[in-house]
Amino acid sequence: MKQLIDKLYETNNLSPEEYKELIDSRNPEISEYLFEKARAVRIKNYGHDVYIRGLIEFTSYCKNDCYYCGIRKNNREAERYRLTKEQILECCAIGYELGFRTFVLQGGEDWYFTDDRIIDIIRSIKSNYPDCAVTLSIGEKSYESCKAFFDAGADRYLLRHETANAEHYGKLHPKALSPDNRKQCLYNLKDIGYQVGCGFMVGSPFQTTECLVEDLMFIQQLNPHMVGIGPFIPHHQTPFADKKAGTLELTLFLLGIIRLMLPDVLLPATTALGTIHPKGRELGILAGANVVMPNLSPKSVRKKYMLYDNKICTGDEAAECLSCMKKRLESISYHIVVSRGDHKSVH
Ligand code: SAH
Repeated sequence: MKQLIDKLYETNNLSPEEYKELIDSRNPEISEYLFEKARAVRIKNYGHDVYIRGLIEFTSYCKNDCYYCGIRKNNREAERYRLTKEQILECCAIGYELGFRTFVLQGGEDWYFTDDRIIDIIRSIKSNYPDCAVTLSIGEKSYESCKAFFDAGADRYLLRHETANAEHYGKLHPKALSPDNRKQCLYNLKDIGYQVGCGFMVGSPFQTTECLVEDLMFIQQLNPHMVGIGPFIPHHQTPFADKKAGTLELTLFLLGIIRLMLPDVLLPATTALGTIHPKGRELGILAGANVVMPNLSPKSVRKKYMLYDNKICTGDEAAECLSCMKKRLESISYHIVVSRGDHKSVH
């Protein structure tokens, strides 16, 4: 198995059969070997720097009905909110002061936020903070809309593909959503010139090793700038309320593999990882991740953006979250940098 890791380290590439073998025969010793290699690559490319992204969860309204997600349309218990442009800019002001140079606008697919409203928000952020990057995470939009957001100044776009296997996709989403459309969006975003992030949940219901191998092959093919992965965590008001959560162990293993596949990828240690284990994000960094995404949403709305149960950091102000994160990273000898933290290919 170590030979497979050595091969991945040297060539950034394995065959589907090799990925399957590596994932299925992993054990603590193999994992540790993988993490050592992944850390070496990460340190070669990024040193001990960790990039921060200020996450602004600006709407909990959603027209979609993804079976895993706590803010799905059919969750009538979910409390809905929208931030105004002024509230969003206030989040940016607080974030800028704290050293954030990337703002991530994330939300449900909310009809209220028309292209014109999104463009207005992007322009306002970019004119107030020309040295900052704006990342969108607002679901599937047309080529034209994505191009208009890019022309207005958006720099990056996060759109997890969720699962590359079409049959599996159909078990996680209603028929109205298509895996091909989601993948096409990702290619459109790359074509337009965005720094693009795809990704998937680890341990989502009905996921098999074959699904994960397809996810890795898709990532290899798309060659994104960012990859967001985190464990699936059930939400009690969804059809998947009784499903098992993904594990820390498999998530870390996949982070290590992705770091070796894409040596300079921007790879977050996600909030979901921090939710399933108290040291999840630190362990993610030690498995090859180089990004964290502290929450900048106003404290008053945080508990309403519940994608899954027990989400961490919903009771703290941004400054508290950041200082907690700084301490956590110091404890493993890594440090946050004040920087846009662009992908290496962008300059
Ligand atoms: N509407 C946007 C943002 C979705 S929320 C979009 O469609 O891209 C961001 C991510 O949270 C999703 O892509 C999904 O991978 C993740 N997520 C949603 N529900 C989750 C759950 N129950 N457990 C873990 N991750 C979840």
